[in-house]
Amino acid sequence: MYSIRTRLTLWYASALAVGLVLFAAAIWVSTWQSLRTEADRSLQIEHQHLAQFLREQLSDARVNLREELAEFAQALPDGTSMEARSLAGALIYSDASAFPWAKTHAANELRPGVVTWKGDRYQFLRSPISVEDLRFNVVFALSLGSMDRTLQRLFWLMVGSIPAVLLLSCSGGVWLSRRALKPVDEITTAAKSIGIEDLSQRLAVPKTGDELQRLSETWNEMLARLEDAFGRLSRFTADASHELRTPLAVIRSTAEITGRRSRSEEAYRSALSAIASESERMTALIDDLLFLSRCDANNLDLPMGPVPLDQVLRDAQVLLSPAAAARRIQLHVATGEPGCTVWGNEAAIRRLALILGDNAIKYSHDGGYVHLTGERRGEQVFLRVEDKGIGIPHSDLPFVFQRFYRGANAREGGNNGFGLGLALATGIAERHRSAVRVTSSPEAGSSFEVAFHRSPE
Ligand code: ADP
Repeated sequence: MYSIRTRLTLWYASALAVGLVLFAAAIWVSTWQSLRTEADRSLQIEHQHLAQFLREQLSDARVNLREELAEFAQALPDGTSMEARSLAGALIYSDASAFPWAKTHAANELRPGVVTWKGDRYQFLRSPISVEDLRFNVVFALSLGSMDRTLQRLFWLMVGSIPAVLLLSCSGGVWLSRRALKPVDEITTAAKSIGIEDLSQRLAVPKTGDELQRLSETWNEMLARLEDAFGRLSRFTADASHELRTPLAVIRSTAEITGRRSRSEEAYRSALSAIASESERMTALIDDLLFLSRCDANNLDLPMGPVPLDQVLRDAQVLLSPAAAARRIQLHVATGEPGCTVWGNEAAIRRLALILGDNAIKYSHDGGYVHLTGERRGEQVFLRVEDKGIGIPHSDLPFVFQRFYRGANAREGGNNGFGLGLALATGIAERHRSAVRVTSSPEAGSSFEVAFHRSPE
């Protein structure tokens, strides 16, 4: 494929060539026309002069017509010849022998024409002259040799100068486009040198206020986004590996220590159950990671349909009850309008309610309250989970939705979550064209809310 520079030059050269040829043709045709008209006019003037001359000469006394014609012919401009014949065709006078009289138009036609005579082209005008009782035909012929030579010179001048002009302007065009596109080459070279390991590099931005400045700025913005995304991805991978190492280390050390010597059946059972529970934790973590990576890759298969929110909340209540009961926490469910449906994926919305409900229980004081509410407002239905628990410090609020982020309150409380719950909840909400909103303070507890749409639009 040709470079932009070559394509620009080729387009420019073709357009210029067509323009120049048309321009030259127009000049040539208009010169040819005006020279022909000029020749024509001069013959007609000679014709009028002759009629006038004869009228003056013949008015006094009868003079010899042939002599008068010869006298007139002498005064004709260079390159003009004259021949006169009677109406019957008999030669009266000719200043050029054997002029091809027969090839000229018939009398009574004041129509000019062109004949070739002795290798030269002649423009002629044949027409009758009648002065008093004298009637005869006369033909004036003007040699077109000089006109033809002028036109030929013009033609060769154009044929010679068009390629020269084309060559000059194309070299100018190449030089200009090279100059104009040089910064693009520089940007390309700079962009090539930026690898995945040095995404912090930025392109130099030319302060020209034009497309190239915007191009560099856009590149830099894209690099910043890439750097941010890549940074998050690396952190995510590092955190995920770290989280997976812990249960793996427990499994490995339990198996090693237990196997070092023979033990009681009970000891084996307890070791195996520790291994099973760590494996379960690992499986849960891997499931969460898989879900998040599918969310990122946008290939999460979530068939959508009408979901009865009241039923989802009641299911969540049943599933959360044992954990709530263990800490004497009262779990209230207000399902709102009975039969009210939202548009979404039932399993995903149930999972979202469980994540938020589970957090509310985890971060509540023993004997506290947790409310799960479904509430319709216009075309939206809100799922809200509130607790009067330990709340989230103001400084932690911007980070709680980040993957693997666990607030100081969570670490102090000894909760062993992975810090992925709210990230999963966000992923689910986003698939429902929504977001998770939070209001929380250590004094008042927390409230998480997600708005669902009632229909697919
Ligand atoms: P995890 O609960 O596994 O730590 P999450 O992503 O669910 O991870 O939550 C992230 C952090 O947000 C928690 O570590 C905790 O600090 C804070 N958080 C979430 N829900 C609540 C809540 N209801 N009350 C107080 N803090 C909360």
